[in-house]
Amino acid sequence: MAHLAQPRFLDEPTARSIADQFGSPVYVYDQAILLANATAALNFPNAYGLTVRYAMKAAPSAAILQLFNNAGLHIDASSGYEVRRAIAAGYAPSAISLSAQELPSDFAKLYELGISINACSLNQLERFGRAFPGRSIGLRFNPGSGSGGNNRTNVGGPASSFGIWHEWIDQAQALVDRYQLTVSRIHTHIGSGSDPAVWQKISVMSLDLVRQFPTVNTLNLGGGYKVARMPNEIATDLQACGEPVAEKFREFAAETGREIHLEIEPGTYLLANAGALLSVVQDIVSTGANGYKFLKLNTGMTELLRPSIYGSQHPIYILQSEATSEICDYMIAGHCCESGDILTPANGDPELLAPRQLPRTQIGDLCVIDGAGAYCAAMTTKHYNSYPEAAEVLLDLNKKPHLIRKRQDAEELWANELPLPS
Ligand SMILES: *Cc1c(COP(=O)(O)O)cnc(C)c1O
Repeated sequence: MAHLAQPRFLDEPTARSIADQFGSPVYVYDQAILLANATAALNFPNAYGLTVRYAMKAAPSAAILQLFNNAGLHIDASSGYEVRRAIAAGYAPSAISLSAQELPSDFAKLYELGISINACSLNQLERFGRAFPGRSIGLRFNPGSGSGGNNRTNVGGPASSFGIWHEWIDQAQALVDRYQLTVSRIHTHIGSGSDPAVWQKISVMSLDLVRQFPTVNTLNLGGGYKVARMPNEIATDLQACGEPVAEKFREFAAETGREIHLEIEPGTYLLANAGALLSVVQDIVSTGANGYKFLKLNTGMTELLRPSIYGSQHPIYILQSEATSEICDYMIAGHCCESGDILTPANGDPELLAPRQLPRTQIGDLCVIDGAGAYCAAMTTKHYNSYPEAAEVLLDLNKKPHLIRKRQDAEELWANELPLPS
């Protein structure tokens, strides 16, 4: 499988010095790439104003939230805990919007702090209405079809539970009337890694929802903008994707007199290629003439779960102080006692293995897994086999590494446990 010649932002000396200074496994983020991605998102085409919300579930560490806060991004939170976390990192509640599968039991407190809420089901709308009659709310709809990189990242259509099903608009309207709510925003988010053409189609369907609620002044079109982690993947061109939709907003205004503010909520787009996972090859085994050669890393599903659950592909590099030109086929295994802890699954099929061509590797070589900024540190089998949480490092604009999350001490694994009652 073809690769870029070297990792996006980590060369061997930098990687070696980070591993020496902070240990491994360690996530490394590149500030220059994060800022460039934020700028690209803030330049998303729009007709009547734009708010970019960082979908913080992609990578919620405080330093990353602070970097995006300074860059002018607002927040999309997917749980009450994310709301608290963003506030703890310095975000003003007014910059936080909550769209959650589980409406937090303390949503009333959070709303009173000043966050905005999208009701993501009729039940959520009813609960909000009972608590805050006469107040302002957003409605998240499932527009009836979706698009995602795979079934597990598709969050629109009849097989998806996200949002109020578009055919229940009358029920939603009845609840809005009963509690005299003001619907100020419509929200649709159809999935991660979506096809730009589908995204544009859903955007037009979303404007039809806006038409049915005359008090709406904002349309939130969610995230899902595709990135290319692997060289054969095609990234979304935000300008090309957004311009036809901005035009639809203009047509909508000409027809209705309503100038609708746009919100987008990228997560993957901002983070995916701005992060890498740095590890060490700690063993090499072979399963014989008809088998495979396996590289075993000091990381795995404890830091990177996407290959195991989606069969997702990440560029993988072996960094050596003295590079060899000899190439071998390797499978790459994680360090968990779990046969599914494989970092080289077949594309889109975690049940199958797909060896990678890599330089002949020695124990002790560094391994960099690229495209590991989004849904990696944030989404793992943390603490499985009692491995502590890995450290996170940010490379500043001068490529100087700064620790932004400490590696956990082993004692923290059992700190909340109590002894057997006597
Ligand atoms: C996860 C999520 C996003 C971000 O999706 P990406 O694919 O990471 O861009 C945006 N909005 C909502 C509501 C989400 O749940």
